[in-house]
Amino acid sequence: MRKKIALIMSLMFFCFLPGCIYVNTDNNQNENNANRDINSNNSTSSKAKTNKKIIALDAGHQAKGDLSKEPIGPGASETKYKVSYGTCGNTSGLNEYELTLVVTNKLKNELISRGYNVVMIRESNNVNIRNSQRAEIANNSNSDIFLRIHANSDNNSNLNGIITLCQTPNNPYISNLYKKSRYLSHCILESMIEETNATNRGVWETDSMSGINWYEIPVTIVEMGFMSNPKEDTLMSSDYYQNKLVQGMANGVDKYFEINN
Ligand SMILES: [Zn+2]
Repeated sequence: MRKKIALIMSLMFFCFLPGCIYVNTDNNQNENNANRDINSNNSTSSKAKTNKKIIALDAGHQAKGDLSKEPIGPGASETKYKVSYGTCGNTSGLNEYELTLVVTNKLKNELISRGYNVVMIRESNNVNIRNSQRAEIANNSNSDIFLRIHANSDNNSNLNGIITLCQTPNNPYISNLYKKSRYLSHCILESMIEETNATNRGVWETDSMSGINWYEIPVTIVEMGFMSNPKEDTLMSSDYYQNKLVQGMANGVDKYFEINN
């Protein structure tokens, strides 16, 4: 248990501190430059088995972090960075925000081909959309579920594997969505492990994430792998493995809606 808490702490540390490449020099971005087209589906894919469910997708981070602060949830006194810098690949040299956008775009196309509608929170790296605003866009988009795509980092470069995150049952803001968020996190994680054979690091529950607390729909944060692990970082930068990650996430979405229809 102590080990698990230490792992959670290190996850928070890396996900909410500036990354190792960019220095915060300019916070002068467009506050409202969100690309949020609803992408219609005209596909007749045999996998399509939904009634036009809407999936909101957020590619984690952005080219420049915004280290001013906002409450971690509605009415909270605790604050966190509006958007942290994310991490970067120790072998690939990719920034997390670049990787997440590439994978999220692939996921968008796959979900559309399976009969879903998709709302993209961002489609460019040059935006400034704080975490609470990402939630607001998703909440107002009539989306059924929300996937936030991230990659992980740790001081221990041996650490590898996939984690999904959701709130605890006692979350002060969205405890009513706990069961659905937990099940969504479970479906996504298990399906990704099945596709990739990556290490299963489990579903982690936390109430300290503004990227969870502001939502009014079921939400999961997907940590696709560790960019601090040379092997996993290299894998995640490849088309081949990205496609596996995407297939896994899309299978997880299908699985979630088999019950929550
Ligand atoms: Zn991240």
